[in-house]
Amino acid sequence: MSVIESIHVDGVWRTATAGGTREILDPADATTLAVVAEGDAADTDAAIAAARRAFDEGEWPRTTTAERVAVLRKVADLLQRDREEIALMESRDAGKTVEEGRVDVDDVTSAFRYFADLVTNESGGRVVDAGSADVHSVVVHEPVGVCAMITPWNYPLLQASWKIAPALAAGNTFVIKPSEVTPMTTIHLVKLIVEAGVPAGVANIVTGAGDPVGARFGTHPDVDLVSFTGGLVSGTKVGQAAVAQAKKVALELGGKNPNVVFADICATEEGFDLAVDQALNAAFIHSGQVCSAGSRLIVEESVKDRFVAELASRARKIRLGRGTEEGVECGPLVSAPQLAKTEKYVAGAVEQGATLVCGGARPEPSDVRPESGYFYLPTVLDNCHRDMTVIREETFGPILTVETFTTEDEAVALANDTEYGLAGGVFSADTARARRVASRLRHGTIWINDFHPYLPQAEWGGFGKSGIGRELGPHGLAEYRETKHVYENLRPEPVRWFAG
Ligand code: NAD
Repeated sequence: MSVIESIHVDGVWRTATAGGTREILDPADATTLAVVAEGDAADTDAAIAAARRAFDEGEWPRTTTAERVAVLRKVADLLQRDREEIALMESRDAGKTVEEGRVDVDDVTSAFRYFADLVTNESGGRVVDAGSADVHSVVVHEPVGVCAMITPWNYPLLQASWKIAPALAAGNTFVIKPSEVTPMTTIHLVKLIVEAGVPAGVANIVTGAGDPVGARFGTHPDVDLVSFTGGLVSGTKVGQAAVAQAKKVALELGGKNPNVVFADICATEEGFDLAVDQALNAAFIHSGQVCSAGSRLIVEESVKDRFVAELASRARKIRLGRGTEEGVECGPLVSAPQLAKTEKYVAGAVEQGATLVCGGARPEPSDVRPESGYFYLPTVLDNCHRDMTVIREETFGPILTVETFTTEDEAVALANDTEYGLAGGVFSADTARARRVASRLRHGTIWINDFHPYLPQAEWGGFGKSGIGRELGPHGLAEYRETKHVYENLRPEPVRWFAG
């Protein structure tokens, strides 16, 4: 298999300077999907230098808003043109179903259009009252400069787009390092950005390992901002390096997300069906490999047995298989280490006293499920409590734990009992209660009677150890801007502070 020219520096696609390569595996059968370039520190330095030059000397940061908006809209159109190709590529690379891949393409198309609209509708600088008719004072926003971006293996196209769209809208140049596990759609996205007409040096990509490629971003003097999405351990490393150089830094990290179900929603068949259906969706979509996965079910004691029985019965019916196969509802885990990690969490939970209700094993191989694929059955663990590792740590696999409560205060306390704070759900037929609980939850996104939807116009990010900063929404654009105050004295006179 020939090596894909996956490194793009200063307008040129190429392989790695030192000739390094990496095999990208299809998680459904562990066969080689592609071979990409494995960049190193020299490739990274070249990409940063190109982005620096394009920012300091190129036209992109000085283009009009209308020109940048035209590029963003063109990227959105190109994403739609290549929708099927990208959805298939994401399915084969990350293991999700093709339908999920299509949803991702549509979502990121909306994100590019949203940031195009946001900057179009801006009114320019904010004039402030300086307290004197002789002073004109205005606050303006400018691009940060060279933005270095690091993304994880789950939702690779989406995570890259949430960074690239606002960065380009604001007039920055960038270097992106996608996850070494799932780089394919990010490579394609950069191709579309180039096709949309950005000048050479504005959009750069280096495929390769976290260290040395990503690690170089935090320490390189020519990087102005580091935006990272991924796990807590690597995120804090990247953050520390960036802060030590006083760079701007944004971190989107993990989550351990509660899904609180009150008994009142289960009083009607309709409500019960909704809450069970959404609990499955919360925990098992993309085999639980979602930062906002509702992996902790916190259900009112009085309905727990009925709820868990129905949940497990439906979880057993989830059709696992290769994401490209018709009728498959859930794909494999992304890699062998991720499968091993899932097996370890389930074994550890059972050892610590959890009851295995369903799953807890790899499925039987089948026509749509090769034995060599990284499949794991949707797993429900009952009788869990706060001291268990599976409750405290992000498992990032198809594991749903069950805890119970009897009072609203107890439900809130359990849901907030995590060092993370990314997202959570509340299911209740009592609107006042649902809103009251939502207001008390210490998480960046709360869904009431729903789970997982997000909007490009609403900020995304976490409380606590789920990160620093926000993506999407006006705040997601502000991350990629510097703020400047220009104070203009219209009747300048000497101040005579110093007598001489
Ligand atoms: P990871 O932290 O292992 O890797 C993320 C990225 O960081 C990869 O590109 C990796 O190569 C790079 N990296 C690793 N070590 C590095 C280092 N020392 N310096 C610089 N870069 C380094 O995470 P992952 O396993 O790819 O992704 C899963 C994690 O991402 C989960 O914790 C998940 O919750 C999180 N995530 C968060 C969000 C969010 O919006 N908050 C979204 C998606 C995923």
